[in-house]
Amino acid sequence: MKIAKIPNQVITAALQPLKLEKIKVIALHHWAASLANMTSVQAIKEVERWHIQKGWRAIGYNYIVMFDGTVYEGRGLNLGAGVANRNDTVISVGFQGDFERFPNGSNSTKRMLDTQFNAGVALLQWLQQKVPTAKNIVGHRDLQANSCPGRFFPLDEFKTLRPRGSNDNKKEDFIMPEDLVRKYQFVDSNIPHGLENELREAIDLGIVSYGDQGFAPMLSERDVRTIVWCVRAAKAKIPK
Ligand SMILES: [Zn+2]
Repeated sequence: MKIAKIPNQVITAALQPLKLEKIKVIALHHWAASLANMTSVQAIKEVERWHIQKGWRAIGYNYIVMFDGTVYEGRGLNLGAGVANRNDTVISVGFQGDFERFPNGSNSTKRMLDTQFNAGVALLQWLQQKVPTAKNIVGHRDLQANSCPGRFFPLDEFKTLRPRGSNDNKKEDFIMPEDLVRKYQFVDSNIPHGLENELREAIDLGIVSYGDQGFAPMLSERDVRTIVWCVRAAKAKIPK
């Protein structure tokens, strides 16, 4: 996880370290502005200028995720200014873009760019490792009455913490036949990402079975990885 420093960051008064054990949530914000006509450095400096003009001691967000995938440290793990009155329990991440007006933050095509989305997922994963109490990922609007981070912001997708990639695309294209839905119903978000296909094959081969409550016996992530390894090894030996 590469986190960049804001060049010549403006800090007008000492930042106060967060008490990490008090942190409850990571709140996602959008800028409500795209600044797409600027470089990343120009854009982050512009937002910093807005926040300093409000009388804040530094840019308000703890971390910032840009269209081009750059992740900046704002206040880092110091008290932020993203959510009034509760910043001692919140880490605020500010995403470049206006996701209330635009599906991808700066115009009407598609959705948040993969580059920005995947950088955001990597940051959230890194943050949850550093701050284990920050279990919940929420939108700013879940904490205060406003529209942030915007109606087009992929908040639910962020909550899955799954980066977009070729596996995801394949999954979207693949329509599961009705009778297989039940058969594979426990190959779900609890399964380590990228191992789902092999686990389905393991079910087909009868290596694992399942009951109404899930796989029997319950499989740990290590079990799943071992099964996947066996399936791959078995396939490698089967002549085509
Ligand atoms: Zn916000």
